[in-house]
This record gives sequence, structure tokens and C-alpha cells, in this order.
Amino acid sequence: MKVVIVGSGIAGLGAAWELGNRGVTDITILDRYPLATRASWAGGGILSPICPWDYPQTVQRLFLQSRRQYDAFFAQVQEESGIDPEYQRCGLRIRGTNLKKAEDWCRQHDVACQIEAENQICLPDFAQVRNPRLLKGLIKALRRRGVVLESGVTVQPPEPDAIVHGISDGARWWPADVVIAATGAWTARWLGEASRPTPVKGQMVLFASQAKASAPIDIDMAQDIYLVTRRDGHILAGSTLEPNTWDQLPDAEAIAQLTARARKLNPTLNQVPVVAAWAGLRPYQPNGIPLIGPHPNMPGLHFHCGHYRNGFNLNPASAQQLVDGILDKTPADNPCD
Ligand SMILES: Cc1cc2nc3c(=O)[nH]c(=O)nc-3n(C[C@H](O)[C@H](O)[C@H](O)COP(=O)(O)OP(=O)(O)OC[C@H]3O[C@@H](n4cnc5c(N)ncnc54)[C@H](O)[C@@H]3O)c2cc1C
Repeated sequence: MKVVIVGSGIAGLGAAWELGNRGVTDITILDRYPLATRASWAGGGILSPICPWDYPQTVQRLFLQSRRQYDAFFAQVQEESGIDPEYQRCGLRIRGTNLKKAEDWCRQHDVACQIEAENQICLPDFAQVRNPRLLKGLIKALRRRGVVLESGVTVQPPEPDAIVHGISDGARWWPADVVIAATGAWTARWLGEASRPTPVKGQMVLFASQAKASAPIDIDMAQDIYLVTRRDGHILAGSTLEPNTWDQLPDAEAIAQLTARARKLNPTLNQVPVVAAWAGLRPYQPNGIPLIGPHPNMPGLHFHCGHYRNGFNLNPASAQQLVDGILDKTPADNPCD
């Protein structure tokens, strides 16, 4: 089977990884930008939805299934690439959530939790991954597996309502039995179908590395801000939610607001300079559920997009669901209709 994947973010790379695990080796990944430099690079690498108990059942299921596979998935990428993705069960603290709902959810799903204060819950075995490192590792490992990855290729949409036998950039044709649209925030615009994922911009700031405190919890979330402490002591603060824009650059006002909120949550950051800021476009789906599966009117085209704020934490299970559909051609409920 020949597969062409449009998009080299976590959705595209994750799909290629899973296809490879199932024995599909003829895979090409195309991207208009340098590989894996869009939303997937920009993210925080938190391996949990923010308050998973508040998400639709489908997202919860994908998260819980993925969670069980993180150890094996990240270890395998590291083994095949030699790049450490800095996956760590660093703990996650959430302030200002509905504690009863959170506790019930943890009990129901056998998730360890501790109530720390009136409206504060700690999930000690929740994890992070250093997303840019993971992407680098996946690219290297996929190349070693024989996957072809090309950047600087702006893929044109297939003809509407046609059987998809391949894909073109206007100059060159890539034949394929299956084309996967892992086109992130560009999906609606690419296909000209308004109901597909659209962008919600998110901005991040990075505080300089400092000696790590002894606190065992490295992800701290409040209502309008979260902090992620990396292994090297850098602290990421995120993020904004800005719909209806294609702008991919950070702006001074949002960065000042994020910086102030971060310093309010953790006053030790008042002494720590901001060393970088960036932005990315999340692929937003109005119903909150990622698009995973065949296009309803274009046989041969499959979606793997619309993961919004959860592209990493849903990844192993999301890619498996996609590949199940491709290999078994399961005619089950089509979530993309
Ligand atoms: C600030 C921020 C913080 C986040 N934090 C987290 C977090 O902590 N945890 C988490 O799980 N998720 C997080 N996310 C969300 C996560 O990053 C996204 O869900 C995920 O990256 C989406 O992956 P993707 O591969 O669909 O999109 P992308 O990474 O954007 O990749 C899509 C690719 O498709 C390519 N493409 C589009 N159209 C074409 C075309 N016509 N031809 C060729 N190529 C094309 C693009 O160039 C792009 O490279 C965050 C996102 C942001 C922005």
C-alpha cells in the first residue's frame, strides 16, 4: 500500500509511525513549511487535556488509551532515533477546577490524585514530553524506516467528490492508494470545506533556566495560565486562545499579559527573564472532537486532524484509530460526516 501524508506535524508523523508499526512501509510525508515547525513545534508537550473530565467522551477515551501507551511509545522513538524526547511523569497540578467532578473521574479511571487545597488537585503520574525533541526523534526514526519526508511542497486539494488516487503540488504528482490529510489548522482552507478544522492561535513565552525547586510537580495550571518546567529548568508559560487569525507571530501585548500571569502564579519568576516567545495555530473543531477517518465523499482521502489543544496527549490512540480504519476499511460510524 502506498500512502501519502500531507502535513509533518504530530498528526502526520504519528500516522506514519503507526502505519510503519503495522507493516506499511511505502510512505511519503509532504509539507509546505520546514518539517514539523507549526503547531506541533509550538505546543507545551503536556500529556493531558486541561481538565480531562470536562472533555467529550471521545477525547477522554483517546486520552486514556494513549496514556497507557506513552511509556512504550516514547521509549521506542528514543531507541530508533537515539534522541531523548524528555518524557517524564512530572506531575500536574490543577487549580480552580470542580474537585468533586475531578475526583470522581480519577476514581472511575483508576487515576492517582491528591486533593491539595480547597480547589486544587494534583495528578502525580501525569507527564510531559519535550515536543520539539519528540518531533526530531520521529523524523529521524521514520527516515531510518525508509519513509520519505519532503518540505517546501504546497499540496493542492484533490478534486471535490472524486476518488483520490494521489496528490499534486501543481508540478508533480504523487500516486497513492491512501492520502492522509494531516493538515492541521489549514484543513478547512485547503479543502474548501468550512466545517473542517480552522486556526486558533496560541502564544507561549519561555523563562530562562533556573535551578529547579525541589517541588515534585512540574506542570502547574490555573484558570488562564499554565507553567511547564522542562528538565533543564526552563519554564514555559502558555497560552492564548485567539480564533480567526492566520498570524503565526507572537505580539508584544499578549506576551506581556502571559508574562504577568505567569509571575502572579509563580512569583519567583519575577527575577527570571523571558528568553523567547512564539506562536502556533491549533487545529480547532467546533465539536471538540478530532477528525479521524475517511472523507465521506472522497474515497481514498482520510482525515487525521482537528486535535486542537491535544495533539500530543491523544497521539498514540488517535493514530491507531486512523490506521485501523485504513487497514480494515471499517465502515463503522463515520465521525467525519
Ligand atoms: C501554544 C500551543 C500550546 C499547545 N500545547 C499543547 C500541549 O501542551 N499538549 C498537547 O497535546 N497539545 C498542545 N497543543 C496542541 C498541539 O500542538 C496540536 O494539537 C498539534 O500540534 C496539531 O498537530 P497537527 O499535526 O495536526 O498540526 P501542525 O503541527 O500544525 O501540522 C500541520 C502541517 O500541515 C502542513 N500543511 C497544511 N496544509 C498543507 C498543504 N496544502 N501542503 C503541504 N503541507 C500543508 C502545515 O505546513 C503543517 O506543518 C498546543 C498548541 C499550541 C499552538
